[in-house]
Amino acid sequence: MLFVCAHFLAGFPGSGPMLTSETNGYAVQTAPPGTVRTPQVPAEETADDTMAVAGVSESERIKQILEEERRAAGLTPASADEPASYAVALPLVQTSPVTQTLTDESPPRPTPRLLQWDQQPRSVRVPVLMYHYLSVPPPDADIYRRDLSVSPELFASHLDRIQAEGYTTISLYDLQAYLWTGAPLPEKPVVITFDDGYRDNFTNAFPLLAERGMIATIFVITDFMDEERPAYLTWEMAREMLAAGISIESHGRNHISLKNQDKDYLVWQALGSLETIEYEVGVRPRFVSYPAGEFDDLTIEIFKSANYWAGFTTIQGATHSTDDPFRMHRVRVRHSTDPDELARVLALDW
Ligand SMILES: [Zn+2]
Repeated sequence: MLFVCAHFLAGFPGSGPMLTSETNGYAVQTAPPGTVRTPQVPAEETADDTMAVAGVSESERIKQILEEERRAAGLTPASADEPASYAVALPLVQTSPVTQTLTDESPPRPTPRLLQWDQQPRSVRVPVLMYHYLSVPPPDADIYRRDLSVSPELFASHLDRIQAEGYTTISLYDLQAYLWTGAPLPEKPVVITFDDGYRDNFTNAFPLLAERGMIATIFVITDFMDEERPAYLTWEMAREMLAAGISIESHGRNHISLKNQDKDYLVWQALGSLETIEYEVGVRPRFVSYPAGEFDDLTIEIFKSANYWAGFTTIQGATHSTDDPFRMHRVRVRHSTDPDELARVLALDW
C-alpha cells in the first residue's frame, strides 16, 4: 500500500518538489478519517486493503483526467521539477457544469487555461467578507453560535446594500488573476466567503445570491460532507452551487487546527481535502481557509507545495498583495453587523 501511495504521488499532476522528494508514501484520502495520519505505520493497521485499492483507483482516475486535459491544451506532462505554473481546468469564475468529469456522455470540459504569476508585485484592496451560519440560531444557542449567525433577512439586506453601494461580487479566482497577471477587476470588487459549509448556505444563502446574480465562495469541511452530517452541505448541493458560479474550496478535512502539526498530518489535510473536492465536484480547489484561523509556517509550506494558491485567515483587513498569498486577510461579518455597519467596513482602507 505504501508503494502504491508513493507511486501515485510521484505522478500527482503539478506536484511540487516537497511531496515528490519524500521517500515515504503520503495520505490516501479515501481511507476512514483519522487512520492515515502517519504513513510509517504498517498498512494493515491503517486501512483495509479494499479501501486502499479503491482510493488509488479514484486517484489514478483523477490523474488521468487531468493529464488528458493537459494534453488537449497542448501542455507538456507535469513533472516534479516543473516551475510553478498550473493548468487551470476551469474558467476564472467557476461556472462550468460540474458533472462533466463524472459521466462519459458529458460534453467536453472547458479548455484548461494557464494562470501563472508574471513576477510583477501587485497589491489591491478587495474586502473578502467572512460569513458562517446563514440562519436564525436555535433558542438554546451559545454565544458563539449566535455571533456567527446571520439571518436570511439580514443577509438579504446585506446583499442589497452591497449592490446599492456599487460593489460587484467576484470570485477568489478573479482576485488571484488580478494579483498574478493584472487581469482587470470591476471598479468596486467584493468577495463573499462562508466558512464551514453549513447546509443553510445552500437553503438560505444560495437562493438570495442567485436571484441577485451574485457569487460567493464556500470553504467546506470534506470529512463532514463525506459523513453526510445533516448540518452540513451534501456534495450534490455543492455541485449545484458550483454550476451556478459558487466556488467550493477547502476548510480542511475535519476542522482540526492546522497549527503545530507535523508535515505528514498537514499533507493528509491539504491533499485529502483537495482530492475529495476535485473528485466530488470536478474542479480542483486552489484556496484554503485555515480552520479557526490557526496556521503556522509549516502549514503554509505544505499547502503551497500541494499547489494551493492562497490561504485565508481571520486576520482583519482588505488589502492583498503578491508578497504574502497564504496570509490573506478578511472582514468578519457578525450577527450584529447591520447594513450601515457593513457599508462602513466595506469602505475601510485597511
Ligand atoms: Zn471554520
